[in-house]
Amino acid sequence: MGGTGSLVRGLVGLIEGQGSKVRCNTEVTEILVQDRAACGVRLSTGEVMHADIVVSNACAAFTYKTLLPARYRRRWTDAKIARGRYSMSLFVWYFGTKRRYDDVAHHTILLGPRYKGLLRDIFQKKHLAEDFSLYLHRPTATDTSLAPEGCDAFYVLSPVPHLDSGTDWRAAAEPYRRKIARALAQSIMPGLEENIVSSHMMTPQDFSDRLLSHRGAAFGLEPILTQSAWFRPHNESEEIDRLYLVGAGTHPGAGLPGVLSSARVLDRVVPDAKVFA
Ligand SMILES: Cc1cc2nc3c(=O)[nH]c(=O)nc-3n(C[C@H](O)[C@H](O)[C@H](O)COP(=O)(O)OP(=O)(O)OC[C@H]3O[C@@H](n4cnc5c(N)ncnc54)[C@H](O)[C@@H]3O)c2cc1C
Repeated sequence: MGGTGSLVRGLVGLIEGQGSKVRCNTEVTEILVQDRAACGVRLSTGEVMHADIVVSNACAAFTYKTLLPARYRRRWTDAKIARGRYSMSLFVWYFGTKRRYDDVAHHTILLGPRYKGLLRDIFQKKHLAEDFSLYLHRPTATDTSLAPEGCDAFYVLSPVPHLDSGTDWRAAAEPYRRKIARALAQSIMPGLEENIVSSHMMTPQDFSDRLLSHRGAAFGLEPILTQSAWFRPHNESEEIDRLYLVGAGTHPGAGLPGVLSSARVLDRVVPDAKVFA
């Protein structure tokens, strides 16, 4: 089966099969504009790539605030982006074990001691709480090819506030991981720490620094009524011609079905390539 990696390989195969190239580790630093129409991008290396249309899959707030110069923006101004409400972030710990935990299902939710209070801490107070609720993912329960024989692969995620919490994740990450490992060992994964063979953490700081997500939010603009549907950044940019947005921050929203649907929407909103000839 191959997990979500199969989905990525499928999309790359589709793009390359049509004669296009995928360039990884290449950061776009600016969307270039001529006569109020996107005409290409500038890369962090300084290289300029010309294009008939530009489709941004980056965080929508980042696309407007950082990539499209302010003089072209009438709706998604810096002030509006600053006023926006952004989704929670995540602490994610990916780990492998040298034994199998056959009693652990593919999906497990471990609820902590508080419900409303924890949500208030995450969404309103933006406070990293002492307690947590966890989602534990064990893909090897379904697809054993994702780990060597006799081993298991996991990630566990804890919803946490985005970077407005002020948490210094460089210092907080390892103690937080240890607390989660203890909670798992004491509940459904006995002997966990002694069986770990690989470990990788992702914090709100990584969502910000590595994925360039505004405030380190994991799901873009929060999907409240006033930031949903027509109120979200449109797939066809409201600011300039020939700029299109896909991904979690635009319509319809976050999650794999949402972001793939946003790509399908493009089929309808991008005019036939002939018009640019
Ligand atoms: C641990 C975890 C578990 C999840 N589980 C599920 C699940 O079970 N089901 C589900 O439906 N959803 C799930 N989600 C949510 C889902 O993964 C996201 O909503 C989705 O991946 C967002 O897709 P995207 O294309 O908008 O953004 P991303 O996947 O973040 O892709 C954007 C890409 O653009 C790159 N980028 C950004 N800026 C630039 C730039 N300037 N130049 C070049 N590249 C740039 C980033 O590096 C990134 O690679 C999960 C998310 C996480 C973190």
